[in-house]
Amino acid sequence: MIRISDILERAAEANPGADLDIIDKAYVYSARVHAGQLRLSGEPYLSHPLEVAYILAQMNLDPVSVAAGMLHDVVEDTHATAEEIEAMFGSEVRHIVDGVTKMSKVTVSDSRARQAESIRKMLLAMADDLRVILIKLADRLHNMRTLEYHKPSKRREIATETLDIYAPIAARLGIYWMKNELEDIAFQHTEPEAYENIRQLVARSRLEREAYVQNVMDIIRERIESAGLQGRVLGRYKKYFSIHCKMKDQNLAFEDVYDIIGFRIIVDTVPHCYEVLGIIHALWKPIDIKFKDYIARPKSNMYQSLHTTVIGPGGMRIEIQIRTEEMDEVAKSGIAAHWSYKEGRRASPKVSQQFAWIQNLIENQENIRDPREFMENVRIDLFPDEVYVFTPNGDIRSLTRGATPVDFAYLIHTEVGHHLTGAKVNGRLVPLQTELETGDVVEIITSPKGHPSKDWLGFVKTVKARAKIRQWIKTQEKERSLSLGREMCEKAFRKYRLNFSTALKSPEMEKVVGEFGFKTAEDLIASVGYGKITPLQIVRRFLAKPEDGAVTDDASLIKKLIGTVRKRKPRTGVTVKGVDDILVRFAKCCQPVPGDPIVGYITRGAGVTIHRSDCVNALKLSADRYIEVEWDKEVAEVYPVKIRVNAVDRVGLLVDVVSNISKNGANIISAWTETRDDHTVDGLFTIGVADTEHLNRILNDIRKVKRVQGVRRVK
Ligand code: MN
Repeated sequence: MIRISDILERAAEANPGADLDIIDKAYVYSARVHAGQLRLSGEPYLSHPLEVAYILAQMNLDPVSVAAGMLHDVVEDTHATAEEIEAMFGSEVRHIVDGVTKMSKVTVSDSRARQAESIRKMLLAMADDLRVILIKLADRLHNMRTLEYHKPSKRREIATETLDIYAPIAARLGIYWMKNELEDIAFQHTEPEAYENIRQLVARSRLEREAYVQNVMDIIRERIESAGLQGRVLGRYKKYFSIHCKMKDQNLAFEDVYDIIGFRIIVDTVPHCYEVLGIIHALWKPIDIKFKDYIARPKSNMYQSLHTTVIGPGGMRIEIQIRTEEMDEVAKSGIAAHWSYKEGRRASPKVSQQFAWIQNLIENQENIRDPREFMENVRIDLFPDEVYVFTPNGDIRSLTRGATPVDFAYLIHTEVGHHLTGAKVNGRLVPLQTELETGDVVEIITSPKGHPSKDWLGFVKTVKARAKIRQWIKTQEKERSLSLGREMCEKAFRKYRLNFSTALKSPEMEKVVGEFGFKTAEDLIASVGYGKITPLQIVRRFLAKPEDGAVTDDASLIKKLIGTVRKRKPRTGVTVKGVDDILVRFAKCCQPVPGDPIVGYITRGAGVTIHRSDCVNALKLSADRYIEVEWDKEVAEVYPVKIRVNAVDRVGLLVDVVSNISKNGANIISAWTETRDDHTVDGLFTIGVADTEHLNRILNDIRKVKRVQGVRRVK
C-alpha cells in the first residue's frame, strides 16, 4: 500500500519549495472519515484515496489537486459535508471535490453506451475545472487496477464504460500512458480470449524480434553519437489493445501489423530532432506518406513529435518517433504536464493560458489539415456554452447554456413545445423559466389544450424554440385575422348583392389580389382582418374590373353595372354631436358626400336628416331644429351623388364615360341619357362615391373623355 510519505516525497519533487501541509491535512482527515470502511479487496478503504493521490502526484500536479484526490470520495461515501471540506481546506478544494462527486453520479447504463460521445462531452462540460477530470481519471485508473475484485458481470460493465468514456477522454487530454493502461486493463475484461491471444503472440514475437530490435537501437545510437549528438533511444512494444484495434479495423493478421515495435529517439533540442531525422532518412528509406511533423504543427492536445516510418534492416518497416525531453513529458501526461506547480506560480492563470489552444483551434480552422481530427478535438472544449441533460429515458440532449424546459421541449419535438404545460426537473415541478443544468433529468408535461405563450419569448434561449413560438403566434394571429377578414368581406359583398365565396373563385378576384400586392386571396382577406385594407376597397376594385368579353353595346354595359347595385340600406358615416345611435338619413335634395360641409336637422319621428350646409332647402328650415354633425373620420361607405355630363355624340362615348367612373372604383347607381337631334348628349348619372375628393377625381377623368364638353355635380 502506498504511504503518505511516498506521496509527499513525490509531490515535493514535482513542486519544489511548495507548502505541502494541505496534502498532509487531507490525509489525516480522509483517514478519520473513511475509518472502518473496506475495499472489495479487503484492504482499508483509505488505500484507494492514497493511490489516487499518488497517481496525481506522479502526474506532477499541484498540492491542491493531490489533496483533493485524497478527499475525492469523502462527501459521497462518508458523513463529511461539502461545507466541512470548505471550512478545512478552502473553497478551491471544495469546488474540485464537488465536481468529482457530481461526475460520479453520471452512471452509464447499457442503453447509454451508444451515446458515449455525448457522455464524454457531458462529463467534460461538468468539469469546469480541468483538475476535476484529472482526479476522476486517476480514480478510474485505480479502480481498473483493482477490477478483479468485482464479479465478472460488473467487471465487464466497468471495463466497457472505461473503453467508451474514460480512455477517450484521457487520449483527448493527451495523457497517452493513462489511455493505454486503461485500455489494456479494460480489454482484458471485455474480450478475455482476444486479449490472451494477442498477449501470447506478442510474447512469442518478442523472442524472435529481440535481436532485431537490439540491432536497430545499436545502429541508431552509434549514428547519433558519431554525429556529436546526445540522446536516448528506446524500443517499445505497442499496447495489446491498439494491436487488437489495428487488426480489427484494417482486417490484418498479427504478422501483418508491422509496427508492433516503435522506436523513440529523445534528444535535447528541436534542431537536433530534425538533424536526427536527417540521419535516419539517410540510413533507411522513408515511406513518404508516413512522415508527420507534429513539431511544426502540434496536435491540438499539444502533442509534439516527428513521426517517420522507414524500411529498416531486412526490409522490415519500422516506426520512429523523434522528440525532445520536454515533448516527451507532454506526450506522457498531456495537459496535465502543464499543470505543475512551477517556480512558485499558481496553476490557474497558466492553465487558462494553455487552454488558449482550444481557442486557437477554432480560430485557425483553415490551418487544420485533417478536418476529422479537428472535429474530434473541438468537441473537448472544456468550457462549452452547452449544458447536457437527460430525457426521462436516459437519452442525452445538449442545449445552449441558460436553456429552459421550454427550449428542451422544442428540442424534443415542435408539438411537445406547442402543448407544453409544465416541467419536472429531477422529479420536481419547476417554473418554466428555470435554467437547466448539466446532469438534470428533464420531463415535459403536455396537454392537448396547452399552447405557447408570448411570455416564453422572454426567457427561451435556443433559436429553435424562439422561431417555433413566433411562428405559432403568427399563425394564430393570421387565423384570427382570416376569420375576421372573411366575415367583414362577406358583409361588404352582401351589401352589393354579391356572394363573396363565389367572387373569390372568379378570375377578377385573382387580379384584385395581385393589385393589392398579395400572392393569395387568403393573405388579402387576412390583411382585412389586420385592418390594413377595408373590405370596401376590395369591393370597389372587384367591381371596377371589366367583365370578361368585350362589351359591344353601351346600354347593356350600363345595365350590367347598375344591376350590381340596388337600393341600399340606411347607413351612418356621420356623427351626431352628443347623441349616440340616432337614425340618420341623407337629404335627397343635396346628396351630401364626405368632404362636403354638412348640417343636421331633426325631423320628428325620422331622426336626423343631413344636408349640405349650402343646401337651399336646409336654409329654409327653422334654426331650433338644427343640430351639429360631422363626418366620421374613417368612412367605409359610399354615398350617392348625381352628376351631369354634356357631350357631343360619337361611337363609344358612353362606354368611355362609364369606364372612367368604374376605373375610379365608383359604382353607377342609376343612369339616364338623352341624345338630341343636334347630336349633343345629356347624361345624368347617380354614382356612389366615398367623398368629395373621390368625386372630383371622377369628374376630372370624365372631363378628359373625347367630346365631353362639361361635367358637374348636380346641386
Ligand atoms: Mn474513488
